[in-house]
Amino acid sequence: MSHAFELKQAAVSYNGTAAVHGIDLTIATDEAVAVVGPSGAGKTTLLRLLNGTVRSTGGHIAVLGRSLREMPPRELRGVRARIGFIHQDLSLVPNLRVIQNVLSGRVGDQGFFGSLRHVFFPPRDAVHEVHRILERVGIPEKLYERTDTLSGGQRQRVAIARALYQEPEALLADEPVSSVDPARARDTVALLTDVCRERGLALCMSLHNLDLAREFFPRLIGMRSGQIRFDQPTAKLTDGDFEALYNLERDEMLKA
Ligand code: ADP
Repeated sequence: MSHAFELKQAAVSYNGTAAVHGIDLTIATDEAVAVVGPSGAGKTTLLRLLNGTVRSTGGHIAVLGRSLREMPPRELRGVRARIGFIHQDLSLVPNLRVIQNVLSGRVGDQGFFGSLRHVFFPPRDAVHEVHRILERVGIPEKLYERTDTLSGGQRQRVAIARALYQEPEALLADEPVSSVDPARARDTVALLTDVCRERGLALCMSLHNLDLAREFFPRLIGMRSGQIRFDQPTAKLTDGDFEALYNLERDEMLKA
């Protein structure tokens, strides 16, 4: 089994304070994993470690078969271009059309002017490809709409389309459904897990919504205070495991 991500004793500090530490984690190339845990537990930091946005202060990190330790920035950008990242705020440009936001998913390696040309004067086959991806995510009719006219759920689909247009080998998503109602959130998580399965992409997503995490992911990672507290097949986890993950945090805060 090959691995999309492999961390051994990974750690990140911000201004001398540990955000995550002692992280051992392996995610296979076709695996879907959700990361759960209270706010401040280190979920975002873990995802940023997985795409090399932050560097581990020790241990070992391999992404898509390459060790990130001491990798020069140019090569790191190359690895990052192979990983889609969907941010909590989606990071779309509101006054651009949907097609332009999606096209911007593939600008990593084209230089500044090449990127501008690709986004604003795309070749015909690129337009067809964006249309095909928008069909898959359910909003083909929005191709030329301005992004800021779309609903929250539709914007999430644009962000997914942009990540797919990047032709990634793995997808990371940081609370991608926190800004919409539960029904829309469920649709988006279902779509993300489906497209990753279809395309054989590794998926690692942080989620506030425990019900969705348990419904859609066969493996869950529980984080608290910068550490992994459980990493289990979802079927083996009990309500008590989740209560402990959240309540212990409250106890610690009361103690502090
Ligand atoms: P989560 O995503 O689970 O809410 P984060 O990874 O965002 O957790 O944060 C983990 C810890 O690191 C928290 O204590 C947070 O305050 C701290 N932290 C996160 N980002 C920064 C930063 N840029 N500078 C300083 N501290 C940070």
